[in-house]
Amino acid sequence: MSRVLVIGCGGVANVAIRKCCSESSVFSELMIASRTKEKCDVLAEELRKTSKTKIETAKVDADSKDELVKLISAYKPDLVMNIALPYQDLTIMDACLECKVNYMDTANYEPEDTDDPEWRKIYEKRCKEEGFSAYFDYSWQWAYKKKFEDAGLIALLGSGFDPGVTQAYVAYAKKHEFDTIDTIDILDCNGGDHGYKFATNFNPEVNLREVSAPGSYWEDGHWIEIPAMSIKREYDFDQVGMKDMYLLHHEEIESIAKNLPEVKRIRFFMTFGQSYLDHMRCLEDVGMLSTTPIMFEGKEIVPIKFLKALLPDPASLGPRTHGKTNIGCIFTGKKDGKDKTYYIYNVCDHQECYREVKSQAISYTTGVPAMCGALMLLTGKWNTPGVHTIEEFDPDPFIEALDKYGLPKSESHDPVLVK
Ligand code: NDP
Repeated sequence: MSRVLVIGCGGVANVAIRKCCSESSVFSELMIASRTKEKCDVLAEELRKTSKTKIETAKVDADSKDELVKLISAYKPDLVMNIALPYQDLTIMDACLECKVNYMDTANYEPEDTDDPEWRKIYEKRCKEEGFSAYFDYSWQWAYKKKFEDAGLIALLGSGFDPGVTQAYVAYAKKHEFDTIDTIDILDCNGGDHGYKFATNFNPEVNLREVSAPGSYWEDGHWIEIPAMSIKREYDFDQVGMKDMYLLHHEEIESIAKNLPEVKRIRFFMTFGQSYLDHMRCLEDVGMLSTTPIMFEGKEIVPIKFLKALLPDPASLGPRTHGKTNIGCIFTGKKDGKDKTYYIYNVCDHQECYREVKSQAISYTTGVPAMCGALMLLTGKWNTPGVHTIEEFDPDPFIEALDKYGLPKSESHDPVLVK
């Protein structure tokens, strides 16, 4: 029995909420609160017909700590699931601390306004010291560690697929397969086709910022940064086939490098088709990915926000996306003094997801781990106060929950390695 407040009602939240409401014995009361309350009402109305969970809705601007504190102290949840955008992470964490409630999210903090001089000063210092220039990093949220510990509360960061399940796979490999891990390659393949020449599978602004940024990987204790999309490999993915994939910076590399310092190299690859890359390069070249406001016909607009308004809503891709995703981690290392390789991954079918929860597999592969992360906190399986990423916890109950709620693992002890 628990009371959960979900903030956000977009593509990922829709899946997570549907999954929570399918497990009413744990998620007995749930409030959906977002900027656009009408979306929460439509979903609540539909779910009330089939779920025993008592569902309420509310309007909240999660950029306002005062609004959040008012809502949280009135509803008194056991957990706040932040499935809005990474821009809101810090305000929601602040509100949770003030109201003494556990917190979780699916992506680490980045600012909406990357031109903010205060933020930029800290960012530029970090770029120099750490050696990677992505807008997001864990430092902002790790800075809350002591506050959460002192309050006896948990903040679970990044409970999606990547980050999220990929870190559980790392903890699982370390627990069951290896004495020491030498290298980790995280491979994120989307073999789905939505029929559009260009669309993003989740929030376009967050997605395009991530993908157009320089790539980087961790090797021998430091970051190596490379121009965007400059390292390309081909890989033959189980149930998807041969795909081009590109090395990207990705947030879980940072936490895995910190929590498993033995690992010599950590890389992240994501597949992209040529059409996606051509469109993205062109949009970037003409300035459409910029987050800096410009004046247009007497009105201030942010180019990437304007682009978001033109692109298909990721939530609308569900019915038209066919094919599968395959996301997982390939490890090399040692067990009992012998060299060993291991691959653990999940394959997810876009159309099966749509039939189950009216969403494509990208929102599904993020929303299900969000629900499973909440389940770990609410059932006390993960209960260490502080600010944590998933590889810090026992992976077994989480991976069992993923198996049960729709993201079963596959394994290979003789995988093809990435060069
Ligand atoms: P969407 O854009 O579909 O949904 C975002 C939701 O947040 C919308 O309901 C939006 O409201 C709401 N929202 C935005 N700003 C505010 C605000 N200030 N106050 C209240 N509500 C707000 O995004 P997705 O569902 O695709 O993504 C959700 C999160 O999941 C993101 O943080 C994303 O980075 C993360 N993600 C993580 C992945 C992983 O594997 N770890 C993979 C994919 C996504 P409105 O309807 O008014 O716009």
